[in-house]
Amino acid sequence: MFYSELLSHTGEKPFKCSQCGRGFVSAGVLKAHIRTHTGLKAFKCLICNGAFTTGGSLRRHMGIHNDLRPYMCPYCQKTFKTSLNCKKHMKTHRYVYSFCMYPPTYFGSLSLKIL
Ligand SMILES: [Zn+2]
Ligand SMILES: [Zn+2]
Ligand SMILES: [Zn+2]
Repeated sequence: MFYSELLSHTGEKPFKCSQCGRGFVSAGVLKAHIRTHTGLKAFKCLICNGAFTTGGSLRRHMGIHNDLRPYMCPYCQKTFKTSLNCKKHMKTHRYVYSFCMYPPTYFGSLSLKIL
């Protein structure tokens, strides 16, 4: 720790990337940098098997799996984020739609189990 700190103060970067010649203060930083050359995707999404080069992009991606749509149309199984959107959609069906909504908590707990 102290050694690499000292090096960063003197501006010395002894760990060189063999691909582009850039210098780095520690082996760890160099290793992370080399990943950008190899395109190695070390961060995997357990839900859809998507792969990502950084933890940050994986976290961003996980957002799409947290996209809960608790309201479902009983006729076509389309799901919606809000009851308003669901109601709006139900008007496209010719049937009575007063029983459109299941309790949001039901689908909420269902989604949590999947996650
Ligand atoms: Zn490089
Ligand atoms: Zn995914
Ligand atoms: Zn529908």
